[in-house]
Amino acid sequence: MVHLIDNERRILSFLRERGTASKPEIAAPDGAGCGWATVTKLVDRLERAGFVEPAGTRPRSGRYGRSARVYALSSTRHCVLGIDVERETTAGVLLALDGRVLWQNECRTPGCGGVEALGRFLSDSLRRSLAALPKDIEIGGVGIGAPLPAAIGRAAPQAYARLADRIAATSGRSCAIENNVSAYAELVRQRDRLTDFVLVSIRTGVGGGLVLGNRLHRGMGYAGELGHVRTRGDRPCPCGRRGCLETEIGLPALARVYREAGGAADADPRDLFRRADRAAARAQAHLAERLAEALGDLYAVLHPPLFLVAGLFGSKAHALPAMIGRYHRALRGRVRYIDIGETDFMRASAQLYHRQFFT
Ligand SMILES: [Zn+2]
Repeated sequence: MVHLIDNERRILSFLRERGTASKPEIAAPDGAGCGWATVTKLVDRLERAGFVEPAGTRPRSGRYGRSARVYALSSTRHCVLGIDVERETTAGVLLALDGRVLWQNECRTPGCGGVEALGRFLSDSLRRSLAALPKDIEIGGVGIGAPLPAAIGRAAPQAYARLADRIAATSGRSCAIENNVSAYAELVRQRDRLTDFVLVSIRTGVGGGLVLGNRLHRGMGYAGELGHVRTRGDRPCPCGRRGCLETEIGLPALARVYREAGGAADADPRDLFRRADRAAARAQAHLAERLAEALGDLYAVLHPPLFLVAGLFGSKAHALPAMIGRYHRALRGRVRYIDIGETDFMRASAQLYHRQFFT
């Protein structure tokens, strides 16, 4: 386990923000917030430990006209494998410290078979991935985002930790596991600098994340499982109950609604907002209405200033918040749509390991 002191993490965060910087730039008043002597010592130490690497020289603006060596975050060491386990597909990226994607792959997620089966699947896929990865890349850890509660039923919150320990033992890498949508909410909190919001993510599965007072909340372990709040409807859910929100607004459910409204049977539900036909309008209205009901209940309980609906529907779905507001007046002006980027969930998983190196 690598342990960095606060000033080292400040320097790494500064480099991540700037891309490259020289020691004088890091020590400058608008730099990383450490003095010259500290910067000199710590940058050398970070270089020896493989966190930073030389990235050329830049003319020094100061007195002597000499050129200053610039540094960047390492692109080959302390990399992380970020894995996103979704209902149907499990996808992984190998991410460098500087956020660069070095490798990407995906496979089918097996059906929900409890914590044992999930552990076996993750250990097996990890072994295969590690064998396939370039050998000159040093992988320090593995971050996994998984829809755990649904996958392991009523397991105790410690199930995350036990699973991580097992995977660490079989892979020989440090391992952290988090609910996938909680991890994503944490990424959004940092990236978009938002301090208070409730996030609902709509993919094959539907999940939630709760950020209040600039902190992700898990309650006693699994808070934020918005996909499994009850709605109208009685369809069976992978979690074992019936009528969950996921069975009404998850992508397979939206495909069903579109089809039942007369739309093409093979239409991709992610295109729902790019289509102008009547069936698409019906399915959009269904989504907005069910979200209005679920978010309206949450609004009454938590009164958050902002709801984020994260989806794969593209920019046209920015019309969704206004539609939701038509079904529930109190939500008007409080809902924002954000599009989930292709690697966002995998980056969120990777962050579970990389976050220890940054402030
Ligand atoms: Zn459910």
